[in-house]
Amino acid sequence: MQVSFYGHVRQYHNLKAEIDAAVLQVLESGQYVMGPALSRFEGELATYAGTKHAIGVGNGTDAIWLVLMSLGIGPGDEVITMPNTFFATAEAIWVAGAKAVFVDCDPKTKNIDPALIEAAITPRTKAIIPVHLYGQCAEMDKIAAIAKKHNLFVIEDNAQAIDAAGASFRIGELSDAVCTSFIIQKNLGTFGDGGAVMTNRDDILAGVKRLRNHGSTKRSVHSFGFNSRLDDLHAAILSVKLQHITAWSDRRREIAAMYTKALAGTNLELPYEMPGYRHVYHLYVIETEAAQRDAMLDFLVERGVDAKQHYPIAIHQQEGYPWGKEAEIVGSVANAEANAARCISLPMFPELTQDEIDYTIEQVLAWCKQNG
Ligand SMILES: *Cc1c(COP(=O)(O)O)cnc(C)c1O
Repeated sequence: MQVSFYGHVRQYHNLKAEIDAAVLQVLESGQYVMGPALSRFEGELATYAGTKHAIGVGNGTDAIWLVLMSLGIGPGDEVITMPNTFFATAEAIWVAGAKAVFVDCDPKTKNIDPALIEAAITPRTKAIIPVHLYGQCAEMDKIAAIAKKHNLFVIEDNAQAIDAAGASFRIGELSDAVCTSFIIQKNLGTFGDGGAVMTNRDDILAGVKRLRNHGSTKRSVHSFGFNSRLDDLHAAILSVKLQHITAWSDRRREIAAMYTKALAGTNLELPYEMPGYRHVYHLYVIETEAAQRDAMLDFLVERGVDAKQHYPIAIHQQEGYPWGKEAEIVGSVANAEANAARCISLPMFPELTQDEIDYTIEQVLAWCKQNG
């Protein structure tokens, strides 16, 4: 049996009639950039997220640096995040011209450890970017309290956790802005690239709207800006898919529960769910002995289970780091490094069949039995 890591085409086939109709409608409308399909999706996304505004942008990376720039964060400023995230989180800080300051993750959740943030704050610190890694919210209540005490902005990197929630907070409730990605492999993905900013702040709305469109909000009038817009075709597709996100997250949680139950007796480290949090399992990441990790991955792939790694090289371990950019690691980042050395991601998407789930479990258990 072959179990693939993604189910993009299955998802398309399940929604083919709706998606095809939405795409054709945009094609016939003659309005493809900053048109009505984009405005409509932005309205739907803000309503869904419970934020005052949503602004479509070119991708999730741009969403982050557009927010940083709209807040005036740039050269001379420091932004705190963690090193065990997708590369783009740090990239966006550097694009804005700021210094990336890394602190370690919590050993269980793999999200930024709030207890380490204060030691990294200096007079230059302007913002914290918690990442809701793998689909589980960072501890926003603790992070927001630190930010308030030190007068810092909080920007949520929510590329992996749309539809997640904390025990006592919603995404977007305790931050200045939420940035998300709609690249196809995210939980809410279009057939290509896309991104959005969600915010309750009118100044971020105005800043991102201006910056994404050549510094212009009025025809022929410009200030410094960029081109980073969400195309109407993608917006129309995302309007269709947004209606299914809750059901998809529920299904991801159901699959995760099956994996966790079946693998509980092994010596693998399984995903840790914070009590009361809604983890939406963008990725189901297990950890094994670093010395065995690559062999386990090969074993699974040879048996047809397309497992992967997220992320086997932490940002500060990448070759050439930091490429002449400003960066600093505060304290030990041993947990992030252990995660990079130990992680394996099992297939996780809502369209997985029961046979595929059972087969994946069977192969993981077969490995554990051989290598107990
Ligand atoms: C995917 C991702 C991004 C970047 O999104 P793009 O749309 O690919 O630019 C940023 N941060 C995290 C954590 C991601 O997973």
